[in-house]
Amino acid sequence: MKHVIALDVGGTGMKAALLAQDGSVLSEARRPTGREQGTDAVVAAILDFAADLADEGRARFGCAPLAAGVAVPGTIDEKNGIAVFSANLGWRDLPLRKLLGERLGGLPVALGHDVRSGGLAEGRIGAGRGVDRFLFVALGTGIAGAIGIGGRIEAGAHGYGGEIGHVVVRPGGPACGCGARGCLETLASASAVSRAWAAASGDPEADAAACAVAVEAGDERAAAVWQNAVDALADGIVLAQSLLDPSTVIVGGGLAEAGDTLFTPLRSAVSKRLTFQMPPQVVPAMLRDTAASLGAGLLAWDLLSMEVTA
Ligand SMILES: [Zn+2]
Repeated sequence: MKHVIALDVGGTGMKAALLAQDGSVLSEARRPTGREQGTDAVVAAILDFAADLADEGRARFGCAPLAAGVAVPGTIDEKNGIAVFSANLGWRDLPLRKLLGERLGGLPVALGHDVRSGGLAEGRIGAGRGVDRFLFVALGTGIAGAIGIGGRIEAGAHGYGGEIGHVVVRPGGPACGCGARGCLETLASASAVSRAWAAASGDPEADAAACAVAVEAGDERAAAVWQNAVDALADGIVLAQSLLDPSTVIVGGGLAEAGDTLFTPLRSAVSKRLTFQMPPQVVPAMLRDTAASLGAGLLAWDLLSMEVTA
C-alpha cells in the first residue's frame, strides 16, 4: 500500500505514523526526543526514527514510503527546509530536510511548523473538515495559532502568521516572553491559568485542570480566574474574527480538555463582543496530540501531488 512517513518532533517526545493517501493511519509509534542528551543526539534520534519507520513500511507493505513529512517547533524556513531556531531543542539553522532526505535515500521530505501542521490536520481531517476558512488556536504552555484558507495554512511572509498568542489584549498587562506586555498567552494559556489559580487558591501546585474542576464545583475564586482567561481569549478571537472572518474557530491544547466548562462561557463571551461580524462556530479540536504528526504526513502527500502537477 502507498504510504508516507509522518513525524512530529516535540520538546519531550516524538510521535510518528505511516499515513495512507486519505490520511488514515496505518501504524503509529512514539519515542522520547532525548533533549537532555544535547542537540546532536536529538538530530540523530530524529534521523534514526525516520529510517526505522521507512524499514517498517517496507516490511509491512512491501514498498518504500513515497515521501516523509516532519513537523518541528520554533522558527522554520519551510521553503528551504531549514529548522531555523528552537529554544527547546537547541538547534540553529539546521538543514533538517536535507539531512532527512540523505538518510532516507533521496526520498522527498517536507518540513513543517508543529502548530501549523496541527492546524492543517484539524482543517482537513479533524474538527474543521469541510471548512474553507478557519482559525486554529492551541492553548498550551503558550498560545499558538494557524490560519486555514482553502485547504492550506497561511504562514505569512516571514513564517510568523497566526501568532494569536502575541496579540495584546490587555495593554500594560503581564510581561510576556516575547518582550511585550498583556499578550493573550500571558492571560489565557494553560500556564497562565495555572499561575493565576495557584495564586488565588494559595496552593502552589494548583494547575489549570484543577481550576476547571473547582469551577465545576462552584468555587467563586476559581470562576473569577476562569472568566478572566475566557474574556481575554474572547477578545483575541474577536480581533481575529474582524481581520480574517473565519467560519470556524477550532480550539485545542491542554485548556480545551475542560470541554463545556471552557466552550460554553467562551461562545457566550465571543457572541457578546460581536457587533457587525458574523459569529464563528467555536469548536473543540478533535485530533489532540496527534494533530501535528498527521499534518506532517499531509504535507508529505501535498509534496507528491505538487511533483505530479509540476
Ligand atoms: Zn507576547
